[in-house]
Amino acid sequence: MKAVAVFPQGHEVKVIDVPEPRLGSPSQVRVRTLEVGVCGTDKEVVEGKHGKPPEGEPHLIVGHECLGEVVEVGEGVKDLAPGDLVVPRVRRPCPSPDCLPCRSGASDFCVTGQYTERGIQGAHGFAAELFVEDALYLHRVPRELREVAVLTEPLTIAEKALREVAHVQTRMPWGRALPGRAVVLGAGPVGLLGAMALMRAGFQTTVYSRSPKPNPKADMAESLGAPYVSSKQHPVDALVQQRGRADVVYEAAGVASAAFQVLQALAPNGVFVFTGVPESEEGQLDEGGLMKQVVMNNQIMIGTVNAAATDFEAALEDLGRFRAKWPGKVERLITARHRPEDYAEVVRGKQGTAIKDVIVFTPR
Ligand code: BGC
Repeated sequence: MKAVAVFPQGHEVKVIDVPEPRLGSPSQVRVRTLEVGVCGTDKEVVEGKHGKPPEGEPHLIVGHECLGEVVEVGEGVKDLAPGDLVVPRVRRPCPSPDCLPCRSGASDFCVTGQYTERGIQGAHGFAAELFVEDALYLHRVPRELREVAVLTEPLTIAEKALREVAHVQTRMPWGRALPGRAVVLGAGPVGLLGAMALMRAGFQTTVYSRSPKPNPKADMAESLGAPYVSSKQHPVDALVQQRGRADVVYEAAGVASAAFQVLQALAPNGVFVFTGVPESEEGQLDEGGLMKQVVMNNQIMIGTVNAAATDFEAALEDLGRFRAKWPGKVERLITARHRPEDYAEVVRGKQGTAIKDVIVFTPR
């Protein structure tokens, strides 16, 4: 069968022919890949800056944002059947008996770093015609989400962040501090899906991103009802003047200098969530000023990576709610669908489009 794989040695990414996977245990499920999303992490994997092939193999089959259709289930699988649509989770637990998070089903908080991630870290991904996965790591998708469910995984980042923010803010003894104002930094798929999740949760949300208006991402944000402010035209103090300080900043740009600029827009008692993985930058920060701000305002900074089963369930529910709240919009986050043969160009940005690029393995 066809698969898209990266060969880190030769910095190559291409379509290869690999044997079809078979069920190896009664709890496994064989899945036909329908679509795979392409994101910034994939670019890093292809550039050899993040992730690695499975032990002893020269290549890694890429792809971690996936929608598939069940074709066969092991005899121990009771709640999935051929024809069901599914989305797989990404991370698999580390083997250490001492890793409490992994031993309690929360590998997104793994402390050893010995986890694997399908399509990223030591385990083949889903950019292949078929894959096999344990039913434990699959989430059933309502059929009406067929068109958009490939966005589930990038939405789980926001779901986990919102879950953590809600938990952290119970620290305020006078009762409900949320929702309030939110600023989303970055208008890529993670940012726009984050904006949707924040708005759905009741936050007055502003999207703050580099490019001046008009541009397709700004149009999308504003069509959802989130004002878009360009950081190129409006520095952070102008953002604060126009939109007020933010109770939550959801960073989804992966640029450290921009992130710490926006930290200055955080309201007293606010929470700043980092989701991006930046390349190292030479910065000129007012570290003293920022530290004083964080201390004097009881602020919290959270870094978040990966997501748990509960976040996948929340994302699937939210995708349904988003479609009801903003008819036609979620679909429009997917700005192009491509063939597996085009993966290399798409991931390197040569065929990349405005928002989310998706590779189609099984045409409708
Ligand atoms: C994925 C996460 C993963 C992270 C680090 C992200 O793109 O969404 O599941 O944990 O990359 O590898």
